Amino acid sequence: MSDARSRLALGIAAGALAFYALFYAGDYALHVLTRAGIYAIAAIGYQLIFGRLGALSLAQGCFFGLGAYAAGLGAVEFGLGFPLTLAVGILLPSLLAALIAIPVLRLASHYFALATLGIAQLALLVATNWTEVTGGANGLYGVPPAEIGTASFGHGLPLTILVWACVGLALLVSHRMTAGRRGLAVETLREAPLAASALGIDGAAIRFRFFVASAAFGGLAGALQAHAVGVVSPDVLQFHVLVLILAMTVIGGRASPLGAVLGALLLIHLPEWFRGFADYYLVIYGAALLAAAIFLPRGLAGLFGKRTTPVIERGEAAIPRSPVPLGLSVETVSKRFGGVIALDGISLTLTPGEILGLIGPNGSGKTTLVNLISGIEKPDDGRIWLGGADNTGRSPEYIARSGLCRSFQHPQIAPDLTVLESVEAVAPERESAPERLSEVGLSGRANGHAGTLPPAALKHLEIARALAAGASILALDEPAAGMNEVERAELSALLKRLADAGHGILLIDHAMDFLLPLADRVICLSAGQVVAEGMPRDVARDPAAISAYFGESPL
Ligand code: ADP
Ligand code: MG
Repeated sequence: MSDARSRLALGIAAGALAFYALFYAGDYALHVLTRAGIYAIAAIGYQLIFGRLGALSLAQGCFFGLGAYAAGLGAVEFGLGFPLTLAVGILLPSLLAALIAIPVLRLASHYFALATLGIAQLALLVATNWTEVTGGANGLYGVPPAEIGTASFGHGLPLTILVWACVGLALLVSHRMTAGRRGLAVETLREAPLAASALGIDGAAIRFRFFVASAAFGGLAGALQAHAVGVVSPDVLQFHVLVLILAMTVIGGRASPLGAVLGALLLIHLPEWFRGFADYYLVIYGAALLAAAIFLPRGLAGLFGKRTTPVIERGEAAIPRSPVPLGLSVETVSKRFGGVIALDGISLTLTPGEILGLIGPNGSGKTTLVNLISGIEKPDDGRIWLGGADNTGRSPEYIARSGLCRSFQHPQIAPDLTVLESVEAVAPERESAPERLSEVGLSGRANGHAGTLPPAALKHLEIARALAAGASILALDEPAAGMNEVERAELSALLKRLADAGHGILLIDHAMDFLLPLADRVICLSAGQVVAEGMPRDVARDPAAISAYFGESPL
């Protein structure tokens, strides 16, 4: 769907909702609509952390509850006016999220879920037991209705309008955080976190921002809820709040904030519609949820399709000069994994415009070497220099931004992004992406989903992404594996053009017939050590290299 058409659809939906609220809905219907709006805000926030980043936070209900308590206490205990209670309702959960983000966001997914669940349980305990402040199990009473200046938004239509204005604001903020290239980078981060960091996407910063934003939206929703109902009890911190928000996000569709709004509207209204079925209500409600999960795997938002970008065919573009010619120097680097010595005092250099072949049997340490120079693993000993700067121990993002990018033995991509979007995600200037695709000969596939590319094309996509990210040096881990003769010849020609343009290339491969004509020099690893080094032809005849590959057995 084009941007103009989706804007039109959004306009019509918003108009219909406004019409319903203004002319049709009675008091009770308005009350339900307000509740849906409040939950929509919490779900828009949850959509950022759970939907966009795929991190199963179990703290969204807790942020909602904290927002409610902060606003309620601000009003009841400190006599703050409504705009201020709203501000503390947003700030308190955001601060908590920022504080716990640093230790908690590092955790692998299931531990992250457990840690956020722990925080939620702790908040519930505090709210229930700190009776002097929170009112304990009875909660806080007498939270005044919302007022801005002399205008009252206490209930009915004014409250509905206030809440839905906040929904609009939340949509806007969330859109700004995820639109365009930013959203593509976030999708790459979720689907291929290793590649994202090796291409210079700062995952830690994005995760932090999204987690804090999810808390801010949760808090805003909770604060509105406190003023809308006038009471805050530990109920707002119970697990069912999280479950409801989670269900809204899943039903709505993880990649679309509008989906979160649709999910909230649907899940708050469903119980009302099915109320007539009395005892069967829960069964029907459950069945409807299940059906939505099965038949709408991309959620309600998935019904509206996906934008595709038109691409100008440019044939095969010439490769521009490498941004800054960089040299790489590895000095006596070692890496151990427990008892295994993966690399044992390796040294090598790579100059701009050079193709350095790296061979060696499986397990000889080739991938480990690429992991070290790209910052994915840290060396135990030795130093790594990039363009004269000591890069030892630097993060993958830093190294990528300094001009070294790597590909993966098993390509790391976000399958639902188009080929063009995959490149746009990492290109500092989005407009340059079609050019990069053209350079690697992928223009014709720009609009296809990256997940549908055949293996050989995926390798080219990885190279295009590296170029888009500004790589001067490319470290390619077995890019020719599984390719046929024709595909190898194409890759070979591409790598030659890249080297001619000044890129330094570290090329891992097993096949001598592929490497020999291509590489300027070859290094052979065996059991983590360099056993042969020199001109390709000499290394191919070197007894140490031959025995590394074939053991002691005669050829
Ligand atoms: P290659 O790419 O040459 O096949 P690798 O660099 O993948 O070799 O592996 C070198 C050695 O280090 C192997 O013995 C491998 O089992 C070990 N190794 C590599 N990565 C790890 C890891 N993350 N944990 C434990 N051992 C590892
Ligand atoms: Mg390997």
